[in-house]
Amino acid sequence: MDLRPGADSCYKCTSCDTSCPVAEVDDSFPGPKFQGPEQWRLKRKEDTEIDDSIMGCSNCMRCDGACPSDVPLSQMHNSARGEYVDNQMDKLSREYIRNRILANYGTLARLGSKVPRLTNAVMGNSLVQKVNEKVLGITAERDFPEFADETFRSWWKKRGGPKVQSEEKRIAYFHGDYANYNTVEVAKALVRVYEEFGYEILVPDQRCSGTPMFANGMLDDARRSAKVNVENLGDAIENGYDIVASCTSCSMALRQEYPEQFDLDGTETVAANTYDALEYLLINENVIDPIRAVDGDELDLPDFAYHAPCHSRNQGLDRQAVELFRHLDGVGVEDVGDSCSGISGTYGWKEEKYDYSMAIGEEMFEHMEHAEGETGMTECPTCSMQMEHGTGYEINHPLEVLEKALVETDVEV
Ligand code: SF4
Ligand code: SF4
Repeated sequence: MDLRPGADSCYKCTSCDTSCPVAEVDDSFPGPKFQGPEQWRLKRKEDTEIDDSIMGCSNCMRCDGACPSDVPLSQMHNSARGEYVDNQMDKLSREYIRNRILANYGTLARLGSKVPRLTNAVMGNSLVQKVNEKVLGITAERDFPEFADETFRSWWKKRGGPKVQSEEKRIAYFHGDYANYNTVEVAKALVRVYEEFGYEILVPDQRCSGTPMFANGMLDDARRSAKVNVENLGDAIENGYDIVASCTSCSMALRQEYPEQFDLDGTETVAANTYDALEYLLINENVIDPIRAVDGDELDLPDFAYHAPCHSRNQGLDRQAVELFRHLDGVGVEDVGDSCSGISGTYGWKEEKYDYSMAIGEEMFEHMEHAEGETGMTECPTCSMQMEHGTGYEINHPLEVLEKALVETDVEV
């Protein structure tokens, strides 16, 4: 795709550079202005190679929101990274193999979740972690996310699917890999909360949203996933379902990255009918009144330190959880500021990026520790890992808090 015309809108104000968390901590990273408009301007047909520093971009997308001139920065970065990986990267290199494994977490998870206890024991072994770091370049500093005893999809099947039938209120749930294999309690919370509001839920066949593939320049892998997702989600839309995701990086991929990168039939329809789970409820239901009616002191809920993920910020959803839960009496929710958590999906799992990732997250860790609540809250599973890693706090998803407040009490919704 030729993105040079977009580059002409850049007037070199450097707002994108000053918003880039990677450029702030990594002196070797030239920043979004260079990676985006400058690189695309330099490209004359096929005669200029992509600068290898493009692999330093974490795909946090903060530069997109910073640009006053609507330069399609992250689209430029994703396209350049894809071109770099396809044409310039050694496919036998450790970096390529490691990135391919990280980008295709779902493949690993599918196998690992068949024997979750054994996988958890093996992946949690410090010797295995050291070997992973030496051989593959996956940092040994982090604990591998544990697999749940039962995937969300098998729980859903055993349960017999939806408990609520409705012609008018229908959502198709895009759970993504992480809520299916790891944080199954978040997926279950979504089901219980939405059924409480009278929604019929469909759980369509699906693949990874592709976010980690975009971030690693694996555009062919992302395209394969996107094709399956767009087809299945498109069918659900035709049958009257809206698409709802519990991870803000998943909703962002379906809404922004698919239409930017792929010309698949139905991509625009899927993008236009996809929502974040909390966002969709706030648009369509009166959530605030029942939340106000809850006696927060009777709930077994702590105060929370809330972090808005960059990909939620990118969709304009950064204040929604704080704005909602401020109506929940007796439970404090404090926004810990607008800094990036630093993990950015697979970025913080790379051995050579780990220290940068922690340096980026430092501001968030400090704010969390100064906040009154000693439990974290966020919508993004990898931000959640980083929050826990940097502070030792337990982290909840807003849907889990909503479940406690509205489903486990007698409050009418
Ligand atoms: S996406 Fe994030 S890391 Fe990449 S250039 Fe933009 S701000 Fe920097
Ligand atoms: S923020 Fe936009 S206009 Fe300003 S330098 Fe970056 S790309 Fe150019």
